[in-house]
Formats: sequence, structure tokens, C-alpha cells
Amino acid sequence: RAKTHQRGGYEYFTRSMGVEIRERVLLMHALRAAFEHQRLFVVYQPQIDIRSGKILGAEALLRWRTDDGKFIPPDQFIPIAEYSGLIVDIGEWVLRSACHELVYLRGLGYTDFQMAVNVSQVQFSHPLFLQTLNKALEDTKAPPQFVELEITESMAMKDPELLIKTLRQIKQLGVSISIDDFGTGFSSLSHLQKLDIDKLKIDRAFVNDIQENASEGSIAKMIVQLGQNLGLAVIAEGVENQMQADTLLSYGCNLAQGYFYAKPLTRADLHAWLENRPSH
Ligand code: C2E
Ligand code: MG
Ligand code: MG
Ligand code: MG
Repeated sequence: RAKTHQRGGYEYFTRSMGVEIRERVLLMHALRAAFEHQRLFVVYQPQIDIRSGKILGAEALLRWRTDDGKFIPPDQFIPIAEYSGLIVDIGEWVLRSACHELVYLRGLGYTDFQMAVNVSQVQFSHPLFLQTLNKALEDTKAPPQFVELEITESMAMKDPELLIKTLRQIKQLGVSISIDDFGTGFSSLSHLQKLDIDKLKIDRAFVNDIQENASEGSIAKMIVQLGQNLGLAVIAEGVENQMQADTLLSYGCNLAQGYFYAKPLTRADLHAWLENRPSH
């Protein structure tokens, strides 16, 4: 009886896996077609100095709108782009788009604007990544000092030596590095100290956890203190209300990104949003 059960479980497992793989392959073909037909676009979410309300810059985020107007979230298609290798070309295109936008904004007078771009592990460990980055900067004339790459903690674990070397080369170009979704990836703290990084981004789960009158033992607070001890900037992502912003500020975190300030915006909306701010 146990045996039949087991076999049933096995069959169910393979059948559902078959469906999953077929769906992934379909999605992969659709993604490639969308990329080729320019159905992907980049939106920009402002990053803010909580104290002054001044804009620090923005994070570039990829969007996919299908032909029938449906949006597929990046959490769904980025893994497919990674596993199919498509992320290498798509990621390069995002980087170049963000660099172009940075140069455009500088032309409008936003000369302190920092542009942050997400970089996947697959791109990062590609042997030509550095060359791709360098070429994007050269071709677009984006000043490297205003470009920041967001990498995740899990990258830090895969191949520490390669990571250290690549980070050093990126820093030599003048580009800065932040660790995205910090606190979710179980990277070792001793390891973190060895990495040439500039900024920690507190994952929005920890910002979401911030409760009124419950500041002790908050993970967000610990990350802010860690950043201060290591001499790194800290930015909170997913800030949705005033209470969270105030609490973060009381922890010593003065940079934020989240719906409370602005959602990710299309280029046109970003320009309008910037124009309507009291000062820049
Ligand atoms: P991420 O890099 O951690 O980006 C932050 C995510 O939080 C974005 O989701 C953003 O829209 C969302 N967010 C920002 N503020 C708030 C808020 O106040 N509340 C809530 N609930 N959410 C907020 P999005 O755009 O769906 O992107 C999801 C993830 O997909 C990103 O997480 C990033 O890991 C990945 N991704 C997006 N674009 C790219 C890209 O161009 N390249 C790569 N490699 N990954 C990307
Ligand atoms: Mg990010
Ligand atoms: Mg993040
Ligand atoms: Mg995240």
C-alpha cells in the first residue's frame, strides 16, 4: 500500500513537473519574442533622502507587457531569463537604457542623479561582463560615478574569489555596488567585510516588519547598525508609510525607496514627477 502511494506520488510529481517545464519553455519563447519585438521596457523608481526629501536617483526596473496588454511580473520572468541565458542580452539592454536615461536626466539639469541597475548572477559571472559594462558606459557617455550596480547576497556565496576580483574591477571603472535584498541571503558577515561594496539595501520584508513601538530587535535596525559599523551607506526599500520612514530615520537610515515616495515610473512619468518637485 505504501508502495502504491509512493508510485502515485511519483507520477503526480513528474506530471506536474512536465507541465511546469512546458510552461517555462513557452514563457521563454514568449520572452525572447517580446525582447526582439521591443515589448520590454524599463521603469524608474525614485530613491529619496528621507531628511531633506531630495531625490538621490532611481532604480531601473524591467517590465514586460504582452501583446494583449497583460503585465508579467519580473519575479516570474527574470528566473526564466536567467535559466535560458537570455538575461545576458536583456540585462545589457537594461544597463544601456538606464545609462541613456541617466545622461538624458543630466542634460535636464539633474546632475547628481544616481542610476541603480540590477545585475543578475548570470550576467555578473559572464566572462564578458566587465567589457559589456565598460562599453555601455563609453557608448552612452554615462559617468561611471553616477552608476550603481545592485547585486544580491547569494552571489557572494557562489564564487567568492571571482566576486572579489570582479568587484575590484568594477570599482576601478568608478561604478559603485550595492547589495540588494540584504538580510535574505544568509551571507556570512566576515565575508561581507572583505567585499568592496558601497551600500546595503534593506529588503522590503524587514521594512514591512517595522511596527510602531517595537524598535528593539528589529532586523532593519540591525542592518543599519551593521552598515554604520562597516562604513557603508544603507537604503531601505519598500517604504510604504510615514511611520516606516520616521522609524528608519530614528535608526540612522536616511535613504529610502518605496510606494510612499513614488512607484516605479515610466520615463515620461519620471520626468513629470521630477518637474513637479519643489527643488532639485
Ligand atoms: P528588487 O531589485 O529588490 O526591486 C524592488 C522591488 O520592490 C520592485 O519590484 C519594486 O517595484 C518593488 N517595490 C518598490 N517599492 C515598493 C513598495 O513600497 N511596496 C511594495 N510592495 N513593493 C515595492 P519589481 O519591479 O516587481 O521587481 C522585482 C524584482 O525583479 C527586483 O527586485 C529584481 O530582483 C528583479 N528585477 C527587476 N528588474 C530587473 C532587471 O532589469 N534585471 C534583473 N537582473 N533583475 C530585475
Ligand atoms: Mg534591486
Ligand atoms: Mg531589492
Ligand atoms: Mg526585492
